[in-house]
Amino acid sequence: MEEFKNDMLTEKDPRYMAVKEVVHHLIECNKDIPGISEINWIIHVVDSPDINAFVLPNGQVFIFTGLLNSVTDIHQLSFLLGHEIAHAVLEHAFIFDRPYSRTLEAEADKIGLQLAAKACVDVRASSVFWQQMEFAESLHGLPKLPQWLSTHPSHGNRAEHLDRLIPQALKIRETCNCPPLSGPDPRLLFKLSMKNFLEEAKKEDLNITVKPKMDTLPIQNEKQIPLTCIVE
Ligand SMILES: [Zn+2]
Repeated sequence: MEEFKNDMLTEKDPRYMAVKEVVHHLIECNKDIPGISEINWIIHVVDSPDINAFVLPNGQVFIFTGLLNSVTDIHQLSFLLGHEIAHAVLEHAFIFDRPYSRTLEAEADKIGLQLAAKACVDVRASSVFWQQMEFAESLHGLPKLPQWLSTHPSHGNRAEHLDRLIPQALKIRETCNCPPLSGPDPRLLFKLSMKNFLEEAKKEDLNITVKPKMDTLPIQNEKQIPLTCIVE
C-alpha cells in the first residue's frame, strides 16, 4: 500500500504497540482455527483521521488512527480487529476502496465476534461501537444514505445483527474458561449515557440537531450516572 507509506506509525509508537498486542492476543487464542497460524500477520497503523481499517488476503492489517480514536475501550478495538482477521481467514476477496458486500460484512462480524469471544473479550462492546458511530453520525448531521443505495450495512443494522449474535458468543466465552464479565453491560451504560446526554442537551439548547459540534461522546462520564436511574 504505497499510498500510506509516509503516514505509518513506527513500531515504537504506543498506539502501534497497543494494536499489536491485541492482534497477537487474538491470534494466540485462535491458533486452532485453520488459516490463522498459517498467515504471517503484519500490522500497519496509518496516521489518518479516517475511521477505517482493512486487511489484505496475505494478512497485512491496516488500521487508521481515526478508528483508534473512535473506540472507547480495548474490547471494541479487539472486536474490530477480530472482524478484520475474519475477512482474511474467510478469504474474502479484497476490493480496495470499495466496501464489502453486506453478506461478507455480516459473515466477518459473526466470525470476528467468535474470535474475540475465544480471546475473552467482552463481546457485548461490539454492538456499542456501531451504536456510537450511528449516534455520532446523527449528531454531525451527515446526510444518511438509504441503505438500499449502498451495499454497506447501516451502523444501526450492524449493531442489531451483533446483538443477535452476542448471546452465542458469550457462551463460547464461557466454554473458554474466561473470567466472568464484571460490571454492568456496556450496552446499558451506553444507553444511559445517551439518555443523560440528550437530557442535558435539551436543557442547554433545544436545538441540538443543528448543533453539530461534538467531538467526543460522553461515554467517559458513564460512571457518574447513578444506576438507580434505570427505568427500562
Ligand atoms: Zn469488514
